[in-house]
Amino acid sequence: MIIDVHGHYTTAPAELRAWRQRQIAAIGSPFNEPLTISDDQLRQTLEAGQIKLQRDRGTDVTLFSPTAGGMEHHVGTFETSLQWSRTVNDLIYRVCTLYPENFIPVCQLPQSPGVDPATCIEELERCVNQLGFVGCNLNPDPSDGYWTDPPMTNRYWYPLYEKLVELDVPAMIHVSGSCNPNFHGTGAHYINGDTTFFMQLILADLLKDFPALKFIIPHGGGAVPYHWGRYRGIAQDAGRPAPEELMRNVWFDTCVYHQKGVETLVEVMGPDNVIFASEMIGAVRGVDARTGRYFDDTKPYVDALNLSEADRGTIFEGNAFKAYPRLAKKLARQ
Ligand SMILES: [Zn+2]
Repeated sequence: MIIDVHGHYTTAPAELRAWRQRQIAAIGSPFNEPLTISDDQLRQTLEAGQIKLQRDRGTDVTLFSPTAGGMEHHVGTFETSLQWSRTVNDLIYRVCTLYPENFIPVCQLPQSPGVDPATCIEELERCVNQLGFVGCNLNPDPSDGYWTDPPMTNRYWYPLYEKLVELDVPAMIHVSGSCNPNFHGTGAHYINGDTTFFMQLILADLLKDFPALKFIIPHGGGAVPYHWGRYRGIAQDAGRPAPEELMRNVWFDTCVYHQKGVETLVEVMGPDNVIFASEMIGAVRGVDARTGRYFDDTKPYVDALNLSEADRGTIFEGNAFKAYPRLAKKLARQ
């Protein structure tokens, strides 16, 4: 089985965006309008989009979450973020109920800059316990480009981590868009977020405090595999444990979109720490003029690696079951 752990509902019907715009326009006054989208509309967007690509590319199931760039945690208050998160999570739940063999739900959290992350627990529990979600996306920068909250290893975040461990679900560390004009969203802010989080892990005891906590760092782990010697050296100079020790709890995904990048990723991190993902449809939508394939068609890069079939299976499915402990039961039920 080929499990893509990283897909977003970027093709949602335009009604979603329109609803969101009305919600934002109403900030400061009550807004109770329900989102109205039919099942047929959902089917249309998926069958022409993600499901078609799954079929074309030969992947089986996608862990599916709301559009990351659309999380926009900086917008409005915690209540704004909560209403938006519930709305998009409910939409993901509907998609995964319509197509249980194609999509497994992953939720957005109602984060808000400067607001205690413990406020996200209720929505996380609702998604996992009531709606069968298997993971969440956790934004390390709810200000969306200005990094105004404490580092992810600060005790500020600990109540949320306690709940993740209790529920046995991982977090994919995933920023949203960038409001800071210095940082292009998917080209800089995403990669900064991935790299920043790993560097924070090196300098703190978060994984000692939570040995069962699991993280997926998307976009190939940002700059980390490419600069592995730098991170090992910084850890050594600082008297910190070797970064390899962090990798019992951390996986990097395959969304780097070129062959040499995937080769480096797997060579440096090893197959046990690389998890198959495409992030379709979204970050890079075009066809690579050199290969004639979509940049985010990531399966051929993994197929072309010089690996044993066992190691390839680890990347395509084994690591997904390890990182997302609730996934096996969920797939077995279908
Ligand atoms: Zn993503």
